[in-house]
Amino acid sequence: MLKQTCVLSSKIKIVAEPDKAALPERHVWFYTKYSCFTLRALNKGSFQKFLVWMLTLEEIKETNVNSVDIKVFPIQGEKGHSVAGKCDTNRGKIRIYPKTVKFCTTFSKAFGRNILFTYAGNRARAALIHELLHLKYTDNEAKVRELTKHYYATYTKKQFANKPVAASMYNLIFDAKYLEGK
Ligand SMILES: [Zn+2]
Repeated sequence: MLKQTCVLSSKIKIVAEPDKAALPERHVWFYTKYSCFTLRALNKGSFQKFLVWMLTLEEIKETNVNSVDIKVFPIQGEKGHSVAGKCDTNRGKIRIYPKTVKFCTTFSKAFGRNILFTYAGNRARAALIHELLHLKYTDNEAKVRELTKHYYATYTKKQFANKPVAASMYNLIFDAKYLEGK
């Protein structure tokens, strides 16, 4: 199991797009820090262990995952909503995106920095769960969303040990405009 854990973990990397160099320096700094934070959140031992369990249960072969790219800069979906992740199911390429500086500033003012960090890490985890499930349930968005909620709840039940923050985090991630598009 440990070996499998390391295999998936070794495919997760940060990928910066050079064409965003026009952003203010402080935003580039912010997104760079954000991507490092996301990498740590996704590589967390308990989460990697959980993913191995989920992939086994869903009979999704780890070898179907070609790469998990953590994109440094956010993108907008078709309706202007932020995108959490994407999956190229043919090539097994998964991409994870951050929230915007603007969103994080507003969020931080409302809930504080600690909750922002918890939110950002768990949003990325939920996104990775979601995109991994697309490798099996390709275009079945409804099924993927339902299972993402189920698996995310299973993971956080342990992580938060049923503290009140677990419920509010779940609502923040799934009631917000989560994963528009793919
Ligand atoms: Zn989806």
